[in-house]
Amino acid sequence: MIRQGVSLKTYNSFGVVAKAALFAVEKSKEDLQLILKDERFRSAWILGGGSNTVFCDSPKQPIIHVDIAGIKIIEEDNDDVVINVGAGVNWHELVLWSLEQGFGGLENLSLIPGNVGAAPIQNIGAYGVELQDVFERCSFVYRNNQIIETFDKAACKFGYRDSIFKNELKNKVVITDVSLRLKKRNYKLNTSYGAIEQELLSNNISVPSPKDVSDAVINIRSTKLPDPKQLGNAGSFFKNPIVSKSQFQKLKTSFADIPHYTQPNGDYKIPAAWLIEQVGMKGIREGEVGTHKHHALVLVNYGNASGQDIKSFSLNVQEKVQNHFNILLQPEVNFCC
Ligand SMILES: Cc1cc2nc3c(=O)[nH]c(=O)nc-3n(C[C@H](O)[C@H](O)[C@H](O)COP(=O)(O)OP(=O)(O)OC[C@H]3O[C@@H](n4cnc5c(N)ncnc54)[C@H](O)[C@@H]3O)c2cc1C
Repeated sequence: MIRQGVSLKTYNSFGVVAKAALFAVEKSKEDLQLILKDERFRSAWILGGGSNTVFCDSPKQPIIHVDIAGIKIIEEDNDDVVINVGAGVNWHELVLWSLEQGFGGLENLSLIPGNVGAAPIQNIGAYGVELQDVFERCSFVYRNNQIIETFDKAACKFGYRDSIFKNELKNKVVITDVSLRLKKRNYKLNTSYGAIEQELLSNNISVPSPKDVSDAVINIRSTKLPDPKQLGNAGSFFKNPIVSKSQFQKLKTSFADIPHYTQPNGDYKIPAAWLIEQVGMKGIREGEVGTHKHHALVLVNYGNASGQDIKSFSLNVQEKVQNHFNILLQPEVNFCC
C-alpha cells in the first residue's frame, strides 16, 4: 500500500520530524519485487526500525518500509538449529523468542533496537558477539532487476560494523530474510566482555544459561544506555576507529594513556568515546542536540532537534577529534539527507 505525506517521527529513534512524500510498506518478497518495478521506488530509502537512521530533512526519495514477518526452523540436528527470519521481525523480539525455545547464540545481542533486515548491513554487535558469529545466509532483491539472490557468510564480507551491503552492494539490494545457526545444547557462552560476569556473580549465577546472560546484558544496557523513547538517540553514533600500528605508536608518544584494543591483524582499535571525551565534548549540549552525559559516543535529541541539527553537531565532533588526534571518526549511523 502506498501512502502520501507520512510522518516519520515515530519511524526513527532520534524522534526527528520529517515527512515522506511517498511511503510504502512491503510485507512479502513478492510485494517488494513489485514495488521495485515501479520507477519511482527504485531508488527509495529502505527503512527497517529507523534506529540507525538520521532523517536530515523530509527525504526527497520515497520510503520503503520492509515489514516481512515470520520465524521458522529450516534445519535441525541434535546440537544446532537453523532459523529463517523475515526482515521485518523486531531484533529483540527474535532474541526473546530464541531464548524461549532454549536456543543459544543471540543472548549477548539482547536489546539492540531495530529489525532483522538491517542486522547484516552493519553486522550488529555487542558484548563481544557479532551477527556474523551466528549468521548462515541472507536473501535479498536487487533493486534494478528484482532478481532474488542468497549470500552466505563469506559472500557478505562482514567486518567491524561493516559488510558488503555498506560497500559494493550499498543501495543496490533490499534484504528480505536472514538465516541464523543457533545452539540447542553445548552453548558457547561469552561472558568475558564488559560487566556480564560481574552482573552474573551479583545474582549468584555461576553456571549461566543463555537466558541468564541475556538478562545480565538487558540489565547492564538498561542502566547504561538512554532509552530512545525518553531521549532520542541512535546508540553509538560513530564507529570506534581502527588505526595501523605505526599510527598508534605516533599517537602513543603524544597521548601516553590512550586506551586501545589490539586487533588480530596487528591494528589498534581506539574507543571513539574516549577521543570525544578528551576534546571536551562529553555531556555537552548545543541547543537541542548533545552528547549523553554518561556516553560521549551517544548523540541525543533533547526534544526538538532536526536531523540537520544532529548532522551539524556530529560534524563539529568529527572536526574537534580530527584536529586534536588526526583521526577522522566515521559515522555508524546512516544519513538520509
Ligand atoms: C539505544 C540504541 C542502542 C543500539 N545499540 C547497538 C548495539 O549495541 N550494536 C549495534 O550494532 N547497533 C546498535 N544500535 C544501532 C541499531 O540498533 C542497529 O544498527 C540496527 O541493526 C538498526 O536496525 P533498524 O531496522 O532500525 O535499521 P534502520 O535504521 O531502519 O536502517 C539502517 C540502515 O540499514 C538499511 N536497511 C534497513 N533495512 C534494510 C533491508 N531490509 N535491506 C537493505 N537495507 C536495509 C537502511 O537503509 C539504513 O541504511 C543501537 C541503536 C540504539 C537506538
